[in-house]
Amino acid sequence: MNKRLFITLALVTALTCTACGKTDNNQSPVTSAIKNDTVTTSYDNIAVTTPQTTHKDDKIPITTTSNIPINTTIKAVIDTTVITTQTEVITAPTTVTSEAITPQSATTVSTSVETTQPETTNPAQLLRPVGSPPSPDDPDYAPAPIQYNIEGITYIQGALIANKSYSLPSNFNPGLDKTCQTQFNKMVNDAYAKEGLQLKFGSGFRSYNDQYNIYNNFVARDGQAAADSYSARAGYSEHQSGLAIDVNTIDHTFDGTPEAAWLENHCHEYGFILRYPQGKENITGYQYESWHIRYLGTDLSYAVHNSGLTLEEYFGIDSYYH
Ligand SMILES: [Zn+2]
Repeated sequence: MNKRLFITLALVTALTCTACGKTDNNQSPVTSAIKNDTVTTSYDNIAVTTPQTTHKDDKIPITTTSNIPINTTIKAVIDTTVITTQTEVITAPTTVTSEAITPQSATTVSTSVETTQPETTNPAQLLRPVGSPPSPDDPDYAPAPIQYNIEGITYIQGALIANKSYSLPSNFNPGLDKTCQTQFNKMVNDAYAKEGLQLKFGSGFRSYNDQYNIYNNFVARDGQAAADSYSARAGYSEHQSGLAIDVNTIDHTFDGTPEAAWLENHCHEYGFILRYPQGKENITGYQYESWHIRYLGTDLSYAVHNSGLTLEEYFGIDSYYH
């Protein structure tokens, strides 16, 4: 992690925790005041306003740093303007020491798990856009999503992440997820029974080596820049996760068909999202794919679908080759 990002993250952590009174950073603000839902903290006459947040999980210690000159940290915040009242800050790096974390449940961990955060040139991307701004008074309010890494695989809120920023180990070879397969079959049956539409399984799990060959063939045909816009490099494909399916023709002849429209509007009812929507190429890292769906389970698929955000925006992560 580069020094500037770390400094920024350290400050963001400190500021966030200041908001809920949990900071153990030795840089005490000169003044601070709580008004409505915001906390205004002054550092040497520079006011920083943060949303007031609540940490519900007191078991998660926040890693902080010390001995950073105050002028340096303030400059980092001002440069990137990372604090606003409409965004929620992801506090990273964070060390999770709860007792057990599994991909299905973020409440448990058998051993201490160190979270990771990829380097980025734009720390503002670490902010999670908030579809409906959370309020600590809301009974459904949840703190920032927990990101953790198990054996080289990144999970956020229990969802495996595979994009250009978050790779999978070359030996990760799970095959197509059984629940994903079952839910896909159910969706195919319902689309036909209710609407007479024909959805077909096109492609599912692809191993690291499968993707290696596919990607290199595209590079040989179209060049690397073009290939990167529509094909993942080996280790970066969501298909290697066993949680992605391409339907029907797996090309743009599927765009605009009744099947494509139905898939976009209904796949979340079965736990899927359309992963690479139109107009979000710069966020997802891939061109529009009307045929590529990702299984998340219905809790997350409804939440992401209803937010109108891509998975990257929903979790506040980026997708580009570092
Ligand atoms: Zn695909």
